[in-house]
Amino acid sequence: MTKAWSILPEEWKGILAERGLRPFRADQILQALYRDYIDDWDKATTLPKDFRETLKKEFPLTACRELETSKSADGTQKLLLGFEDGQSVETVLIPATGRFTQCISTQVGCAMGCAFCASGSKGVVRSLTSDEIVAEYMAGRRHGEITNIVVMGMGEPFNNYDETIRALKLINAGKGPNLGARHITISTCGVVPGFKRLAAEGIQFELSVSLHAPNDKLRSELMPVNRRWPIDELLAACAEYTKATKRIITFEYTVIKGVNDSRACAEELARQVKRVPMAKVNLIPLSPVEHRPDFETPDDQTLLMFLDVLMKNRVQTMLRRSRGKDANAACGQLRLRHLG
Ligand code: SF4
Repeated sequence: MTKAWSILPEEWKGILAERGLRPFRADQILQALYRDYIDDWDKATTLPKDFRETLKKEFPLTACRELETSKSADGTQKLLLGFEDGQSVETVLIPATGRFTQCISTQVGCAMGCAFCASGSKGVVRSLTSDEIVAEYMAGRRHGEITNIVVMGMGEPFNNYDETIRALKLINAGKGPNLGARHITISTCGVVPGFKRLAAEGIQFELSVSLHAPNDKLRSELMPVNRRWPIDELLAACAEYTKATKRIITFEYTVIKGVNDSRACAEELARQVKRVPMAKVNLIPLSPVEHRPDFETPDDQTLLMFLDVLMKNRVQTMLRRSRGKDANAACGQLRLRHLG
């Protein structure tokens, strides 16, 4: 059975025709889905009742229930969403002046096992389908007008490439939710084959890479993916990507007290990043995670020193605030609590 939220707007007419349904219905469907943001065909009251019954049978909407919500003092909201098979993922909604950003998950759990991440601490259960990722977006959309998406939640998007890209194309589609490609950021921990595939799509999604360490020794300790694709290989893929797409890559660097926050690390990071033309760095002070009490947030003085070293080396750098600390907003923590 084809789920409605897995169908790209341009595919509807053909799919309806194949089933003997009239093509003008496609526009009605798109309006109900992406103008009225329905979560149940019965709510599409502009459509005739018998047609709604056909849609329910032939193109069901993906069940996605809000199981739990936690809200932080800074307005960040975390939703735990449950699917039909009892699996759940988290999505985070982050309000800021002129923006309402949603952080999207692409898998239930994650196989990549990054040391500082709650999502990776219990492995991957399964990947989300494109309609489930769109259902997740819809759940966020019902809390307000989403202006930006970051694919930085649970899961490694390049380990679920086809379904993730299909969902993002749908969210980007003019007759769909119509969220601009430049407002959609895909974040990878460094699954190198994904870079070439994304460059070949020719879509202007933003790409960010979780680096978190400036050399192989430290990065392999923090991020097992580095043993498969070490820094030289990763940076070569990044350089190729920026050359092919003429688009900037953002390197995410979570700063962990006493682990990767030294002056020597900052200097080494500057040297590495400068190997990629059109790169910038986001420094993010670590949000504490329950399963690693030994990982702590660095103090402001250290963060400013780190920032200063990068700036003096002419690396474009932003120091980001951690958001939603009191809403279990470090990735994966709400789900872990729910699992007990
Ligand atoms: S940081 Fe991302 S890639 Fe690493 S374990 Fe967590 S969800 Fe997976």
